[in-house]
Amino acid sequence: MKRLFFCPICKSELGREAVDFPFCCERCRLIDLGNWSDGSYAIPSDEQVVEDEEPNRLLN
Ligand SMILES: [Zn+2]
Repeated sequence: MKRLFFCPICKSELGREAVDFPFCCERCRLIDLGNWSDGSYAIPSDEQVVEDEEPNRLLN
Protein backbone atom coordinates (compact mmCIF):
# COMPACT_ATOMS: atom_id res chain seq x y z
CA MET A 1 0.00 0.00 0.00
CA LYS A 2 1.34 3.38 -0.97
CA ARG A 3 1.32 6.00 1.73
CA LEU A 4 0.96 9.60 0.79
CA PHE A 5 2.56 12.52 2.51
CA PHE A 6 1.58 16.12 2.19
CA CYS A 7 3.56 19.25 2.74
CA PRO A 8 2.21 20.92 5.92
CA ILE A 9 2.71 24.32 4.33
CA CYS A 10 1.28 24.13 0.84
CA LYS A 11 -0.50 20.78 1.17
CA SER A 12 1.03 19.47 -1.99
CA GLU A 13 1.71 15.77 -2.27
CA LEU A 14 5.26 14.67 -1.78
CA GLY A 15 7.18 11.46 -1.84
CA ARG A 16 8.70 9.88 1.20
CA GLU A 17 12.05 10.37 -0.46
CA ALA A 18 11.62 14.13 -0.68
CA VAL A 19 14.88 15.88 0.17
CA ASP A 20 13.17 18.39 2.42
CA PHE A 21 10.75 15.93 3.94
CA PRO A 22 8.26 16.54 5.46
CA PHE A 23 8.25 19.65 3.32
CA CYS A 24 7.97 19.60 -0.44
CA CYS A 25 10.81 22.04 -0.90
CA GLU A 26 13.26 24.26 0.91
CA ARG A 27 10.94 27.23 0.55
CA CYS A 28 8.17 25.55 2.53
CA ARG A 29 10.70 24.48 5.12
CA LEU A 30 11.76 28.09 5.56
CA ILE A 31 8.16 29.24 5.75
CA ASP A 32 7.59 26.74 8.52
CA LEU A 33 10.65 28.00 10.34
CA GLY A 34 9.31 31.51 9.98
CA ASN A 35 6.01 30.47 11.47
CA TRP A 36 7.77 29.22 14.55
CA SER A 37 9.84 32.34 15.11
CA ASP A 38 6.74 34.36 14.29
CA GLY A 39 4.77 32.92 17.14
CA SER A 40 2.15 31.72 14.67
CA TYR A 41 2.32 28.39 16.40
CA ALA A 42 1.41 28.10 20.00
CA ILE A 43 4.55 27.11 21.81
CA PRO A 44 4.13 25.97 25.41
CA SER A 45 6.81 27.85 27.25
CA ASP A 46 7.61 29.46 30.54
CA GLU A 47 9.12 32.34 28.68
CA GLN A 48 7.13 35.52 28.89
CA VAL A 49 7.56 39.01 27.65
CA VAL A 50 7.61 41.30 30.64
CA GLU A 51 7.02 44.95 29.96
CA ASP A 52 7.17 46.53 33.36
CA GLU A 53 9.54 49.25 32.31
CA GLU A 54 9.26 51.84 29.59
CA PRO A 55 12.15 51.61 27.13
CA ASN A 56 12.27 55.40 26.81
CA ARG A 57 12.98 55.82 30.45
CA LEU A 58 16.16 53.81 30.08
CA LEU A 59 17.43 56.26 27.49
CA ASN A 60 16.94 59.37 29.58
ZN1 LIG B 1 5.21 22.80 0.19
